Amino acid sequence: MAKYKGNYLLAVEGDPPLNEDGTYCIVGGRPFVDKLKHVARYAKAVIAWGTCASWGCVQAAKPTPTMAVSIDKVISDVPIIKVPGCPPIAEVMTGVISYILTFDRLPSLDRQRRPKMFYSQRIHDKCYRRAHFDAGQFVEKWDDDGARRGYCLYKMGCKGPTTYNACAATGWNGGVSFPIRSGHGCIGCSEVDFWDKGPFYARQENIPRLDAESNADTVGIAAVSGVATAIGLHAAASVVRRIQQRREQGALPSKSDETADSG
Ligand code: SF4
Repeated sequence: MAKYKGNYLLAVEGDPPLNEDGTYCIVGGRPFVDKLKHVARYAKAVIAWGTCASWGCVQAAKPTPTMAVSIDKVISDVPIIKVPGCPPIAEVMTGVISYILTFDRLPSLDRQRRPKMFYSQRIHDKCYRRAHFDAGQFVEKWDDDGARRGYCLYKMGCKGPTTYNACAATGWNGGVSFPIRSGHGCIGCSEVDFWDKGPFYARQENIPRLDAESNADTVGIAAVSGVATAIGLHAAASVVRRIQQRREQGALPSKSDETADSG
């Protein structure tokens, strides 16, 4: 700290409990919260590794007897970069540090202090099952035909439509897989207060930013009516084209003839 004053990165896992003067978590003989404030003081930036440090996670879930809080509640005056996920993705963690070391600047952050390069899109935006969502093809039970065909897991509680992270782009364990590819819906572990947002398997009734009224039942209808509209437009365009061709061939009166007759 003395040698690199103002020029070191502090990477923090976990969240400091504040109740009982912070004694629920003692590090090196002192409350974690005191140690955290001390070490963060002259850091160039503090990186919150994972959902605990970023949002509080399970320790901060109601009724939170230890009064655990995210690190931004106790650190001020130092830039904080949040890398949420339970756990965070290894490639994202190393990607953030590599960026800082390579370009000697902090990555661009969103309003919640997450690096935009990894957290600007929802799992849903890059999910390989998205075509099934758009087509209204859903898994209804864990062992049904839709599950075997790899249909969308939205009805099984997938939180991909409201979760911002890079899982669907980078995968996990060196890109081998990620929860949805393994057949389980996203549980939204990188979002704030995800433990308090209801059961993992409860279907989200609304999908923000797509349409306030969108849900699994209406999106299929919307997709079908969209297709029907497209078919209707295509048919109408074909009829107009055919009438035009027949007029050019003299089989039908021209438009100016029709106007003169009606006059
Ligand atoms: S709801 Fe889940 S499984 Fe379905 S497309 Fe979105 S992210 Fe993928």
